[in-house]
Amino acid sequence: MNTEIQIGDNSLGDNPLTVPETLMPEQEISNGFEQFKLNKQLLSAIAEAGYLSPTPIQAKAIPMILDGHDILGIAQTGTGKTAAFVIPIVMKIKYAQSPYPKALIITPTRELALQITEEVKKLTAYTDLRHLCLYGGVGAKAQTEAIQKGVDIIIATPGRLMDIYLAGNLVLKELKIMVLDEADRMMDMGFMPQINSILEVVPRKRQNLLFSATMPDRVVRLTENFLAFPLRIEVTPQSTPAQMVTHFVYHVPNFKTKINLVGLLLQNEDFKKVIIFAKTKENAENIYKFIHRKIEKSVRVIHANKGQNSRINAMDEFKKDDVRVLVATDVATRGIDVSNVSHVINFDVPFVHEDYIHRIGRTGRALHEGIALTFCNKAEVYHLQKIEKIIKSPIPVKELPANLVVEETPFEENQQQLLDIDYQRRKEDPNFKGAFHEKKRKNEDRKKQYEDKHKAGTSKASFYKKNAKNKR
Ligand code: ADP
Ligand code: MG
Repeated sequence: MNTEIQIGDNSLGDNPLTVPETLMPEQEISNGFEQFKLNKQLLSAIAEAGYLSPTPIQAKAIPMILDGHDILGIAQTGTGKTAAFVIPIVMKIKYAQSPYPKALIITPTRELALQITEEVKKLTAYTDLRHLCLYGGVGAKAQTEAIQKGVDIIIATPGRLMDIYLAGNLVLKELKIMVLDEADRMMDMGFMPQINSILEVVPRKRQNLLFSATMPDRVVRLTENFLAFPLRIEVTPQSTPAQMVTHFVYHVPNFKTKINLVGLLLQNEDFKKVIIFAKTKENAENIYKFIHRKIEKSVRVIHANKGQNSRINAMDEFKKDDVRVLVATDVATRGIDVSNVSHVINFDVPFVHEDYIHRIGRTGRALHEGIALTFCNKAEVYHLQKIEKIIKSPIPVKELPANLVVEETPFEENQQQLLDIDYQRRKEDPNFKGAFHEKKRKNEDRKKQYEDKHKAGTSKASFYKKNAKNKR
């Protein structure tokens, strides 16, 4: 059986692109960055970053941005978007000028802001350009003071940027170029009002770049407001011969057995650098505690409830290989680039099904081969099937190891699983009456009738939806 699927977002190399003929540059793209007529300082910095040749999105975007076009870049994480906009920005600003920022890069999360900042730092190493990262969760005073010293490139999350601007501590009148990175994610996270207010206060005459992994209607509308005659660059998963990620699913009955399986797997030294994804922050915390107590001390956890410093430190240690295992929720890691992850473990099957792609995209990046393992209990089979539909191929099932201790499913956990299954069946078939717990069902039916009558809006479906949103 073919156990590999293509992850289209890891396309480093000479892959075909879906750029319309009319937008194709005249000359053939050769290897190397010399073709872009960059200055010595940049070429040295690029070489030092270890980039030998541009990724497809870089090959297309860099000359267009240098030419002054507005750009709409559609490509998933791991395609090298950051350098695709940072390189031309550095080339355009060249050297430190007035105290006021010339370039503004907006991105949804602190982690992403820090990651972009790292890239800016690398690529400006041989220039005198000043950059600054602004994000919430820490005091604004130090950031404000840094702005006053003068800055050329700002990397920011929308909320903090607006706070500082509204406090009168940021002058944007000299802004020449603005980037919205991960635009779809920013919409998902409800940043539209902040982005609109930012657009109102920045100078009209400037170059705009928008990057997004997907193009839902909301992003299309934003594009229409934000970009003038944009050139569209698309690196689609289908058309990109991609990094191979080998993936499997284990059918595991319950939480304790999943923990045991993690324990067994981590005994294998091939599991050098492992991200374990959990569906909620509570789960992440529990998994972390179990692992730390019973299996492996070299483990950290990141989720939305963790303090800012703890998240940054955990990410840093994991990146530097000081820590072998990172337990995380999707929100905390979306877009984060960690190279050389050997294994992704989906401790829970993600119930936001597209997250599966993002999660397993953490491994096998930048030409390294990766393995993704998903643990699935009987209530999660439903989600597994939905994912298989999205990726258009079944995920191969792997036998549980013979020496795995399979625990009894505790009563409570079993009840919850049955409830979930009932809920799923009902969702698929509104006429399904439910097999689980006759009395409870009747009560629920009665409750539902009551709610329907009173339109209380606390039906189970909306409860589930709310939970899915809030808990991650
Ligand atoms: P995206 O923003 O599309 O998710 P990133 O900009 O985070 O992607 O890049 C993903 C990884 O690829 C990073 O580790 C980055 O250093 C690396 N990378 C970027 N450009 C190149 C290149 N031209 N050659 C090799 N590696 C690259
Ligand atoms: Mg990115």
